[in-house]
Amino acid sequence: MALRRGFKSEAERIAKQVRAELELNGSQSVAPETLANLLGIEVRAGDELIPRERFVELDQIQRGAFSACTLRPSNGRIVVVYNPLSSLSRRTSDLAHELAHILLDHRLSQIERLGDITFLSCDQTQEEEAAWLSGCLLLPRALLLAEVRRGSDAKAIAKRYRVSEKMAQYRLNVTGVVRQHQASERKRRNSRR
Ligand SMILES: [Zn+2]
Repeated sequence: MALRRGFKSEAERIAKQVRAELELNGSQSVAPETLANLLGIEVRAGDELIPRERFVELDQIQRGAFSACTLRPSNGRIVVVYNPLSSLSRRTSDLAHELAHILLDHRLSQIERLGDITFLSCDQTQEEEAAWLSGCLLLPRALLLAEVRRGSDAKAIAKRYRVSEKMAQYRLNVTGVVRQHQASERKRRNSRR
């Protein structure tokens, strides 16, 4: 499914605004915990709320099925809960994803079932929008271009910015920075002749 027209520039605008408020420049990654703080959102490990065994059970039903979710226990209070079993890189990606839903004012609409647990999620379009915006926040284009220029691949980028390798690869693909770098290298070589 394609993102709606104008969404990508909207996402860039939101990411830019967030960076400005956090006094970060265009090539800096937004740490989800810092962003949550700015937005007044609480971040909790799931096992602070329910026993850790519940997450182990869920993981046995479907590995990695639960990433994170957003609770609104009372008016104005927002709590993002992440899977306590997730690696640090997965957690970073998942938290950024949840915060992206909140920044985009997405509302939960889909009922999903996992074993005996029922939870709400967003529709497919909103999922794609959150994936896109979280990528803009964690791995801005300028950062990726600088990394590609110094020879970093998805694995190195993932490690440095503690995001999943999948997300690093996705951002390298969709931003077209690899192509841009190769083109400028060709130009440089040709002008030297
Ligand atoms: Zn989502």
